[in-house]
Amino acid sequence: MTGARRFFLGLDIGGTKLAAGVAGDDGRLLSREVIPARREDGPETMIERLVAMGRRVVDASGVAPSDIAATGVSCGGPLDIRTGIVREPTNLPGWIDVPLVARLTTDFADFLGGGPVYLENDANAAAMAEHRYGAGRGVRNLVYLTISTGIGGGVILDDRIVEGESGNAAEIGHMSLCHDGWACPCGSRGCLEAFASGTNIAQRAHDRIAAGEASSLTAFETEAITSREVAEAARAGDPLACAVWDETVTVLGAGVGSIINLFNPRLVILGGGVTAVGDQLIVPVRRIALERAFPSMAAEVDVVIAQLGADIGIVGAVAAAQARLEYSR
Ligand SMILES: [Zn+2]
Repeated sequence: MTGARRFFLGLDIGGTKLAAGVAGDDGRLLSREVIPARREDGPETMIERLVAMGRRVVDASGVAPSDIAATGVSCGGPLDIRTGIVREPTNLPGWIDVPLVARLTTDFADFLGGGPVYLENDANAAAMAEHRYGAGRGVRNLVYLTISTGIGGGVILDDRIVEGESGNAAEIGHMSLCHDGWACPCGSRGCLEAFASGTNIAQRAHDRIAAGEASSLTAFETEAITSREVAEAARAGDPLACAVWDETVTVLGAGVGSIINLFNPRLVILGGGVTAVGDQLIVPVRRIALERAFPSMAAEVDVVIAQLGADIGIVGAVAAAQARLEYSR
């Protein structure tokens, strides 16, 4: 042993893309690659592609394979971080009880010299990344929320991710805010995700247009109206878009207020594609959340936008590898 290994391989398995990169302990990527997931090919072929890409990004990074301390894998849940098994993620059809960590450990054994492989829920991995390298640096207690196609979350308490029994804790998007509310893809009702995800922001605009409300959004094909078009139309003062946006920030504000009451965090970090609009989202969500939380806890918290950008999947996997290695010591 010539010294501690200092680099990490991050692998990100998403429904639309597979990504990989290598970083040091500051989370800065030395190499990265993104390819289409082509999930219709199934887990076997996708894992083969992921392993090949992992080797390529290590080669491209200039880091010796023997200097890779650990590999992190960020993947949608449900999964089991104790056994390294991917259970049945909603975004990966056909991935049923896949022993991913065992498989990657074997496939990388001769290349990386037996460093550990850690599986992490994608939102928890992103929370670990914002905590280590992003908006949450130096903060002991924080909650991360990603608002994109769906809504995911991760909770860091006392500088450590909250795992739950199998690593699936903090499914904040599936807090049921309304017991008899709108149906959610998870099977429950009234979930935060079922109302305020990017998908649902667009859906509520579609529903109002279909019901005959006037809007500048009718200039678009229905499929072309996403949360971004709704946000833009709201900024321009379109009444329908303003109504949808006001509902969105109110529900998100109520959800974030509940999160503050639950965890007493120093920081709530909002990431994901819907937050790209910046102040249009964060300003009203912060105001409503702080109005609704206990005043003593509201006085101690801020609500901010995430700092790490589109590579959050890879950087999250790197953060998970680094964190898990530290936890295991
Ligand atoms: Zn749900």
